[in-house]
Amino acid sequence: MHASCAAQRSVSFFGGTVVTRRVARQSLRSMATPCVAGAKQTVLVTGAAGRTGRLVYEALLSRPEQFSARGLVRTAESKAALGNGDNLFVGDVSSNSSALEEALRGCDALIILTSATPKMVAPPKPGERPEFVYPAGGLPEQVDWHGQKAQVDAARALGVKNVVVVGSRGGTDPNNMLNRIGGEGTNILVWKRKSEKYLVDSGLDYTIIRAGGLLDKPGRVRQLVIGSDDADLGFRAVPRADVAEMAIQALLCKEASGCSLDLVSKEEGDGAPTADFAALFATAKRGM
Ligand code: NAP
Repeated sequence: MHASCAAQRSVSFFGGTVVTRRVARQSLRSMATPCVAGAKQTVLVTGAAGRTGRLVYEALLSRPEQFSARGLVRTAESKAALGNGDNLFVGDVSSNSSALEEALRGCDALIILTSATPKMVAPPKPGERPEFVYPAGGLPEQVDWHGQKAQVDAARALGVKNVVVVGSRGGTDPNNMLNRIGGEGTNILVWKRKSEKYLVDSGLDYTIIRAGGLLDKPGRVRQLVIGSDDADLGFRAVPRADVAEMAIQALLCKEASGCSLDLVSKEEGDGAPTADFAALFATAKRGM
């Protein structure tokens, strides 16, 4: 974990590199290799102003022949940062069901990229570990359970066909240290896993992508590696840009239907960059 970036808005807490939002907004415009051609899809990305959510939102916007993109953000400031388009909706997924429903109405698919995000209290003193806290209203139980459950419920009620969730590796171990970040019992991975199970049981079509430590590095230059249930994959991290692309490809590949997978990448230069997403999804675990 990196602890020296007090000026940043938030920190990566899964072992990924900490970088500024400017770097995190690497465009995915060049990443346009779909699995299959199909009807144009209207897609809502929630957490669209987040570090991975924004990559997904902008990539969808850059492919107007395939997607009609919508974004849900939490604040007017985030909406402005994304360009204030008519396709942007403002609302808290945990407490504003009408904004969520308005954003989702008429969508074919939902990509969930909301997440509780702990903030560093203050830069740590030399030799000490940083201290984190979740903002008011932003506890994992509120965002990753109630907020994510609300998104699944709204998708089901509104006839949205397909839901892709980007979550995290580590959820098979209740003692994972991330469950204690921001305080004992905050249990972010436990709540994420619970809402993934809720989605699986919902009857909706789904793909669950559990990412390794997120890196703000270029996408489409690494070989991606998938697994399941936290089995050792030899690698621990993956660029946010590749996670974003995988989430989009999940909407295009029939092989992604009904699977849950862990996602990491090899180092750049170690293996050929992944191009065949259908083949990758075909090897994923079916079900939870
Ligand atoms: P992020 O930048 O922390 O973005 C999370 C987004 O969720 C933010 O845009 C935030 O809105 C939004 N949000 C939070 N609570 C909300 C609410 N109640 N209503 C509406 N929006 C809400 O995400 P990330 O770091 O790209 O991570 C993406 C996913 O990968 C997350 O599920 C994360 O847990 C997972 N993951 C992260 C790592 C890592 O190394 N960091 C590793 C593995 C997996 P605001 O912009 O208003 O705050």
